[in-house]
Amino acid sequence: MIYRTAGTIDQAMKASATGGNKATHTMKVLEEYAIECSIAKVFGSEVLDYTVDEAVQIYGGYGFHEDYPVARGYRDSRVNRIFEGTNEINRMLIIQMLMKRALAGTLPLMAAGAKLQEEILSGSAGDDSADGQWAEEDRIVRGAKKVFLLAAGAAIQKYRDRLTDQQEIIGALADIVLEIYAMESALLRAQKGVAARSKDSSGAIAAAARVLLQDGAARIEASARTALAAAVEGDMLRTQLAVLRRMIKREPADTIGLRRTVADAVINANGYPFEGR
Ligand SMILES: Cc1cc2nc3c(=O)[nH]c(=O)nc-3n(C[C@H](O)[C@H](O)[C@H](O)COP(=O)(O)OP(=O)(O)OC[C@H]3O[C@@H](n4cnc5c(N)ncnc54)[C@H](O)[C@@H]3O)c2cc1C
Repeated sequence: MIYRTAGTIDQAMKASATGGNKATHTMKVLEEYAIECSIAKVFGSEVLDYTVDEAVQIYGGYGFHEDYPVARGYRDSRVNRIFEGTNEINRMLIIQMLMKRALAGTLPLMAAGAKLQEEILSGSAGDDSADGQWAEEDRIVRGAKKVFLLAAGAAIQKYRDRLTDQQEIIGALADIVLEIYAMESALLRAQKGVAARSKDSSGAIAAAARVLLQDGAARIEASARTALAAAVEGDMLRTQLAVLRRMIKREPADTIGLRRTVADAVINANGYPFEGR
């Protein structure tokens, strides 16, 4: 999902250098990446916390012991959710910035929302199909984006300009955005890694992406249910939840087996197995 206009940061910085006030232009260019920065900050710090917490668990009682490295990792990790803008504030910023760009027309979210409404009315929402070895994964990511539009649309319709006061709903919407960004990034990286090595998509990098997509889709479904239930009620809620289920439906996958494939790759590499991919 791209949240800015186009081009690389390098191209944008070069373009800005020709402007009158370089500092103002530079700030404007960097602002283009503000949403991605917030996403990376929140997702990265929470994945780190999860990872280091699991590491302490693997060490057992030694995980608490300063003679072993994970105790320090655990202690150092926690602050990342607080400084550089707490994760709660960054979650709010993600949605505020998205809405601002949607209203200004720099992000075509309104058009995408209107198209989705047409699909829902015609009964075709969630009927996406695709071909190829990544068909299921592509479909999950496309469905997840529609889920965001569905949940955000319902929240905007109910609260309009008072949505900023509904911080729990904004938090749930931000969680959906975070997951989509992570899912799409992991999928693109896996596709690139597999294509570069002319391999089929049964290896560890693909397995890692598939786990993230399966687990992410489940988390997206839960966040969307929370947001929808706060925005609509009664029969309308039941209808919206049925649409949600169709949009995020996915083939069951053996995530235990997929995780074992990733674990084998880590053991064989004796470290991070996806370097340079
Ligand atoms: C080790 C460390 C190093 C630091 N280094 C720097 C530095 O170099 N430069 C600098 O400027 N600052 C620095 N800080 C400060 C840091 O940026 C602040 O701690 C951080 O911005 C949070 O502000 P606060 O501590 O006042 O918490 P508060 O703003 O009081 O927030 C407390 C809690 O309430 C939540 N919260 C607040 N408002 C809302 C809301 N509207 N909705 C939902 N939840 C909300 C927050 O997310 C947080 O969990 C550092 C802090 C630490 C711990």
